[in-house]
Amino acid sequence: MKISGATKVYGIFGHPVSHSFSPAMHNAAFEALGLDCVYVAFDVQPKDLEASAGALRTMSVAGINVTVPHKESVIPFLDTVSQEAELVGAVNTVKNDGGVLKGYNTDVGGFLRALKEDIGCEPGGMRVALLGAGGAARAVLTALCMNGAREINVINRTVAKAQGLADEFQNSFEQIVINAHGLANADSVESCLAGADLLVNCTSAGMKGVESLALPLEALGSETLVYDLVYNPLETELVAAARRRGNLAETGLSMLLYQGAESFEIWTGARAPVEVMKQALSF
Ligand code: NAP
Repeated sequence: MKISGATKVYGIFGHPVSHSFSPAMHNAAFEALGLDCVYVAFDVQPKDLEASAGALRTMSVAGINVTVPHKESVIPFLDTVSQEAELVGAVNTVKNDGGVLKGYNTDVGGFLRALKEDIGCEPGGMRVALLGAGGAARAVLTALCMNGAREINVINRTVAKAQGLADEFQNSFEQIVINAHGLANADSVESCLAGADLLVNCTSAGMKGVESLALPLEALGSETLVYDLVYNPLETELVAAARRRGNLAETGLSMLLYQGAESFEIWTGARAPVEVMKQALSF
């Protein structure tokens, strides 16, 4: 990769951020398309977020991804926010359009593309069991609601958070049935799983170092699709168990890939070289 006086700078704001896979993925994509662009990680502390967002304008940084802990708190420092990002309440992609900072949430489109391309799932008309009520769950709920899911059961360890999320989205999407359940209520978890066309794990459970959820997977129908947003390890216990039962199941690496592809397309207007980006993610 050659850096010239005209190289456009892209990057990611996070804290910590050195573990991010995004620099490898985006630099591989820039190189593959011969674009004079570079992508770097910026470790931005929360107290410095406003000044750092302002520096995007003064230093003509072309675009950034935003990750933990800044996805929500960056919004007041942007000029516009997409409909998806507004519904999620979080931004993961910013484009600097001639000094105008535009915020997007590509986790929404990334999740949808992962469903469609990896497990052939179209959420329209589906009944969904959604585990979790944090930031990732909000992006998945937005994607499912905007794409015509029929019924969504939000299941979370802290039931009040599930209830808050379900109530908020029910107000915006009256035609969809959205209910909240506690993870500790074994009967209701079992009936949510039994009635689901799609089971999505949006909790951190099952990540390397975090115990997996004990779920009654025997309640799942044989056609139920399973998507686990967790991507480290590459095959989570949930995905392995679902596959053993014969269910089609996938981990979250594809969502990571497609959210990156969508960011790339927003910034450059070029079609993202998905295969190259996928190879860069192989860890
Ligand atoms: P978050 O906002 O901190 O939310 C964490 C969620 O997990 C909450 O619902 C929390 O329940 C639940 N949880 C955590 N530990 C649990 C446990 N031991 N048992 C049961 N529930 C537990 O995090 P997030 O941003 O939503 O991220 C969640 C996961 O999604 C992470 O693993 C993240 O890496 C992954 N993710 C993947 C992608 C992708 O592209 N594939 C994108 C975004 C996120 P409480 O409310 O009860 O605390």
